[in-house]
Amino acid sequence: MTKPTTTNTGTPVESDNESLTAGTQGPILLHDHYLIEKLAQFNRERVPERIVHAKGAGAYGELVVTNDVSRYTKAKLFQPGARTESLVRFSTVAGEQGSPDTWRDPRGFAVKFYTEDGNYDLVGNNTPVFFIKDPIKFPDFIRSQKRLPGNGLRDHNMQWDFWTLRPETAHQVTWLMGDRGIPKTYRHMNGYGSHTYQWINAAGERFWVKYHFKTDQGVDYLTQADADRIAGENADYHRKDLWDAIERGEFPSWTVHVQVMPVAEAEGYRFNPFDLTKVWSHKDYPLIEVGKWTLNRNPANYFVDIEQAAFEPSNVVPGIGFSPDKMLLGRVFAYADAHRYRIGTNYAQLPPNLPRAAEVNSYSKEGAMRYFYNDASVPVYAPNSFGGPHADPALAPDGGLWEFDPTMVRAGYVEHAEDGDFTQAGTLVREVLNDDQRDRLVSNIVGHVLGGVQEPVLSRVFEYWTNVDPDLGKRVEEGVRAGLDGAPTPAPSQG
Ligand code: NDP
Repeated sequence: MTKPTTTNTGTPVESDNESLTAGTQGPILLHDHYLIEKLAQFNRERVPERIVHAKGAGAYGELVVTNDVSRYTKAKLFQPGARTESLVRFSTVAGEQGSPDTWRDPRGFAVKFYTEDGNYDLVGNNTPVFFIKDPIKFPDFIRSQKRLPGNGLRDHNMQWDFWTLRPETAHQVTWLMGDRGIPKTYRHMNGYGSHTYQWINAAGERFWVKYHFKTDQGVDYLTQADADRIAGENADYHRKDLWDAIERGEFPSWTVHVQVMPVAEAEGYRFNPFDLTKVWSHKDYPLIEVGKWTLNRNPANYFVDIEQAAFEPSNVVPGIGFSPDKMLLGRVFAYADAHRYRIGTNYAQLPPNLPRAAEVNSYSKEGAMRYFYNDASVPVYAPNSFGGPHADPALAPDGGLWEFDPTMVRAGYVEHAEDGDFTQAGTLVREVLNDDQRDRLVSNIVGHVLGGVQEPVLSRVFEYWTNVDPDLGKRVEEGVRAGLDGAPTPAPSQG
């Protein structure tokens, strides 16, 4: 039998269809509480969208550890044979909630592991590097990728203005303009922790690590033309693909690897290992397999499980810590702060964020929407004499310790032997891409630049690509000048 509709507090309502009015033509009556409740609830259905990574998709899954990396970390989730429930949210970065999944943009790859020692969040991207290396530049960078204040339009001139004025962006922009800048689906892209993290083993030895989730579906991409067409046909193309694959029982998986650098090698490494615009060469630090990560369950409710999911790099567990990567340290503050604003101070109580394998014994209390509370016998302060929880440093993650010069400075990273804004971007172009990939790179850059880049930014664009690779710079300039002269060029896309 169909259940009766009720108000939010359980009283059966008179009608799903008619408001209460004074006569058939009279005014609607204010004491029609159900109508008021329904309209008011509707007005409040949206929480603010994320300022970045607003459009996404997600699923639940599991990490199974297949190798023994216990000599590098004591983290329980990475011990041989461990199985840990997990949640992921994939996303684009600059587009808003309804924006097409196939715009050219890096993809967020935010993973939560529900471990016995509390939630561990690895909030990465589908790229091993990032545009900038200091969090003070993050708001500037993101604003330059979003919309102009006057007309509310995205603007390629603004994007290239920022990129060319901050040449440390070159490595990530080369990635972005290449094939991997538009993945075929979320299933066909790798995930990278991107930052340098710390692993600590049972003996207290420390290592620097980078995470690589390599897709078992194979890396695949969309051409600019296909991505533009799909953007018009189905803005939710990637969200739908992930959902459908899991519903079909075709569970996507990734093989999880790490690169491990002994702490003593960091200072002498040819690249500064904490600079987020650089990778550690695979040749120097080969990938070490950790396990298999599989997505096998769609969310029961998109809003509850994915929109309200809160990932935060501050969530680390014993055996894992931070590093001198300034972007990471900035994010350790910024993510939790964003969640407090977006979904409220008690966001950790929401179903996707609540620990599933660990007990919460926190002194946090009250605040809006609090429903998780300690027994009345538990004191609200520490220390106390009445059996309340007490901190135990032997159990806690130490956040990752490292040595540093304690003089306060505002300075860039110490340059290592082969650092430089353009070095690794040039390696990618010359040594990793093949001729066809380089042709598409040129075509994508030219199409994007023709989407509105003007002097003086335009000259800097040519200089930027010439610094990455002289031949690439020449081809970009020739392609753009031909386009400006009216020759047929790839249609500029929104991305
Ligand atoms: P390697 O030749 O050992 O590795 C090159 C890596 O590049 C591959 O393993 C693959 O990474 C990735 N790659 C392949 N095709 C593309 C593409 N079309 N666009 C972007 N990346 C691609 O060289 P190095 O490790 O010395 O790195 C050389 C350059 O490769 C770097 O400057 C960087 O741009 C790029 N790269 C390096 C990574 C690293 O962690 N060392 C990771 C990814 C890219 P994967 O196996 O992760 O798919």
